[in-house]
Amino acid sequence: MIVPCPECKKALRFDEGRFHCTTDWCSALGMEMPVWRAVKDSGLAAPTPAGLPRPEHRGLPVPWVAPRTENQVWWRALDAERLALAQNLWLCQACGQALPEKAWVLASPEGQVLQAALHETCKDMALEYCPHLSSGTTRTTPRLIARSQLITDGRPVAQAAPSEPDFLHQWELERFDETG
Ligand SMILES: [Zn+2]
Ligand SMILES: [Zn+2]
Repeated sequence: MIVPCPECKKALRFDEGRFHCTTDWCSALGMEMPVWRAVKDSGLAAPTPAGLPRPEHRGLPVPWVAPRTENQVWWRALDAERLALAQNLWLCQACGQALPEKAWVLASPEGQVLQAALHETCKDMALEYCPHLSSGTTRTTPRLIARSQLITDGRPVAQAAPSEPDFLHQWELERFDETG
């Protein structure tokens, strides 16, 4: 998959999870572009509507926050624009639809939340298709919580500045001293 530089239109190089322009006369030379921004600015982003069932790529459901073109999905890169929306509007990161008052998050043993919240069925789907979310280095467990139990940068989410694509919230569970 070739993603062209938004400035010089030459193919961007993909390296360490980000795109770079290597054209020596281009004004974007040396700038790192996150996947979602390069894909969007190149005009190649494929529409990923909210709702269920999810669009599929090679048999796998595509989360609402995954950057994609017609024939490629960057599973581990996140669309920061959509993630900010999900965090600010209490939307499900897997399906993009509104969440009930209590929703699921995947939290590490230290209480760090994997990005945003999910519906119960979307949480089950994520764990079924993305086993790395709950194993290996992430070691998360699902927890049913209200938005008021989340803090970011040391303050309740509702009192924090909104999440922004370049300054995303890192959610944590408050009072994470309970065992089990
Ligand atoms: Zn360029
Ligand atoms: Zn959902």
